[in-house]
Amino acid sequence: MKIRAAVLEKFDAPLVVQDVELAAPEAGEVLVRLKACGVCHTDAYTASGTDPSGYCNSVLGHEGAGIVEELGEGVQSLKRGDSVVTLFSPECGECLHCKSGKTNICLAIREQQGKGLMPDGTSRLSRSKGPLRHFMGTSAFAEYTVMPEIALARVNPEADFDAICLLACGATTGLAAAIWKAEVEEGSSVAVFGAGMVGLGAVVGAKLRGAERIIVVDPSLKRLELAREAGATHTFPGGPDAVGEILELTGGFGADYTFEATGKVAVMGQAVEAARMGWGLCTLLGVAGRGEKLEIVPRLLITGRRVQGGSFGGARGRTHVPELVEMYLRGELDLDRFVSHRMGLDDINLAFLKMHAQDGVRSVIQFS
Ligand SMILES: [Zn+2]
Ligand SMILES: [Zn+2]
Repeated sequence: MKIRAAVLEKFDAPLVVQDVELAAPEAGEVLVRLKACGVCHTDAYTASGTDPSGYCNSVLGHEGAGIVEELGEGVQSLKRGDSVVTLFSPECGECLHCKSGKTNICLAIREQQGKGLMPDGTSRLSRSKGPLRHFMGTSAFAEYTVMPEIALARVNPEADFDAICLLACGATTGLAAAIWKAEVEEGSSVAVFGAGMVGLGAVVGAKLRGAERIIVVDPSLKRLELAREAGATHTFPGGPDAVGEILELTGGFGADYTFEATGKVAVMGQAVEAARMGWGLCTLLGVAGRGEKLEIVPRLLITGRRVQGGSFGGARGRTHVPELVEMYLRGELDLDRFVSHRMGLDDINLAFLKMHAQDGVRSVIQFS
């Protein structure tokens, strides 16, 4: 079928919205009609050409939500008309990792997905000039996409697509990190570095878990305001003395939980140092640049601080995303406040400009 899609033709250049050909779903695959897709930093990172694992020509987009349109052979867990959220991190439920219950890093389709291909090693996307690759296994800047069944979370159809598309990446990363990965305890103190979509998700997650003190550090005053609306109790712009300020706000010891959501290794170092002596748990969520290293003074660990990280906040997509959608429907998660701009696919490059200008938290592409 012919669809409209935003294609990365060349690194460090605007995306080109054009007609492309999408083949029917093969065995174990599903055709999804997109309703909404958030525009995330990872799309921009790949488009810039600085991502060492990035590839061209592909259809970008990985924060999608939509409706199941057609099923490939053997698909059992979904049916036509289901509402789904796209998952760049699948959950097969059967591989060694999924069965362990200890990690969300599913092994089922990792290798081919990393190359921009479907699990059978081919692509469903093409155009007259030749084949196109699938970005992050999702390619959601498009009217339709074909994805593996195991990479689609079936969610409550009552939820607004504009809001729940944020759960395909950014919001879930922060929320899941606070709720399930770090398991923030009631009455605890939390420090969040970075108040973009991921950091704000961590703030909301920490508040839901009953944290008493939620300190947020971000250079943008506008984002700090959003953080306060989301539940932060103390906010400040950060800088070289951020750790000192957090120690002061936590009785001199540091926060019980710290979250890093900037991707800057210097800030990651601060997040480790700001974790409380004895039991402070630091969770790293940002993606650092190629070859960058995090230096930690061993004494910080020997005196009881712990450091962990989590892709997608450690969320097991098919299990946790539907739960978060239910929380949204119950009014516990206000995702709507994070949708700053809504636009059509033809304005995709405007969404990137807004992101670079730090204008709002998220732009969402809407499909009719
Ligand atoms: Zn993302
Ligand atoms: Zn698996």
